[in-house]
Amino acid sequence: MRRSWVGGANAAETDFPLANLPFGVFSTTAEGPRCGVAIGDHVADLAALAAAGLLPGDCGFDAPALNTFMALGPARWDEVRTRLTALLAEDGDGALRGDAALCGRALVPLAEVAMHLPFRVTGYTDFYAGRQHAFNSGSILRGPDNALTPNWPHMPIAYNGRTSTVVVSGTPVRRPLGQVMGPDGDGPVLSPSRRLDIEVEFGAVVGVPTRMGDTLTVAEAWENIFGFVLLNDWSARDIQRWEGQPLGPFQAKAFATTISPWVVTRAALEPFRTKGWPRDKALLPYLDEPADYFFDLTLETHLCPKGGAATRIVSTNTRHLYYSAPQLLTHHALCGCAMNAGDLLGSGTISGPEKSSFGCLLEQTWGGRDPVPLDGGERLFLEDGDTVTMTGWGQGEDYRIGFGRCDGEILPARPNVGAN
Ligand code: CA
Repeated sequence: MRRSWVGGANAAETDFPLANLPFGVFSTTAEGPRCGVAIGDHVADLAALAAAGLLPGDCGFDAPALNTFMALGPARWDEVRTRLTALLAEDGDGALRGDAALCGRALVPLAEVAMHLPFRVTGYTDFYAGRQHAFNSGSILRGPDNALTPNWPHMPIAYNGRTSTVVVSGTPVRRPLGQVMGPDGDGPVLSPSRRLDIEVEFGAVVGVPTRMGDTLTVAEAWENIFGFVLLNDWSARDIQRWEGQPLGPFQAKAFATTISPWVVTRAALEPFRTKGWPRDKALLPYLDEPADYFFDLTLETHLCPKGGAATRIVSTNTRHLYYSAPQLLTHHALCGCAMNAGDLLGSGTISGPEKSSFGCLLEQTWGGRDPVPLDGGERLFLEDGDTVTMTGWGQGEDYRIGFGRCDGEILPARPNVGAN
């Protein structure tokens, strides 16, 4: 493991060793949002490094979003990664380390920064690419014999979500109002959601754009993906149940989606590449994978009631996905849909075979039947004041490549506008 001279970067438990270098957007009390990479206990200010002539000047690092850099493509991403590694490695070139004044400007303690959305989200598509999740939720709704719809083993299923409510970790989430079936089942009532849920997902971030009419092979799609984030696709199950037929989720998913502040690159995740879930059936050739495009990454979720203790409620792994991120992108572009630098592709809930690995409360409680035990209490669905925190990492022999935190606290619903 190559070592860095920056504080905290060589600790076995840090999310941000030299081999990671995830990209984000940060601000300080003195200066507004700009691009940075996390290294140990610090953020390296990419705008400051570019202004000092240590990075290419045309990457847009002084902007409050990574989109310009993401659109430049893999050759430039690799060039910047190589240059940053040389600047931050113990055995590197010393151009930054030897300049105390520049170090003072360009290395900011993580404890002193506020994190922002890392990129302007130009599109958000929420897939349904986990087989165990599709089987579990289908079983809860339709029974195990009809759990998977006939199309499911042949293509990644998805709906187009909202970009306006994709928020960065730490943003509170207000319990949504919506139409739900009334208690006697004979008609809808307007109500705060009583079945507020999480969905543990893995988000792929499109870098290289494609034009309307372009299609992509899976190998090309892989090259176009800039990196990955943790993603919590908050869901209102009671609203979803009533509105979901015939066109799928709408308000039940539109109120909030939280992502982690750091985009971890494909290069950093390279050691963790692996195969995905076994295939039920051969896929059509346009979805053929010439290599392994899944990852072995642990994803954990903790729930902490206000003033209480946190309980780990989910431990799952991204290798439980059935469709890989480049397969999602290939399928998305197949019809000629233009894809933009900043499009976010959610994997869908990631559940493994064991109950502890089920990635949402709907599955964990089997449709709201069996409560999940907490350290001091239990839950069927989320309550006001609950904070949900997702973390994720790839575990190396003496290091980890992590994503930081993806968290949000549930606020009470606004006054019920239709109560009278
Ligand atoms: Ca979802």
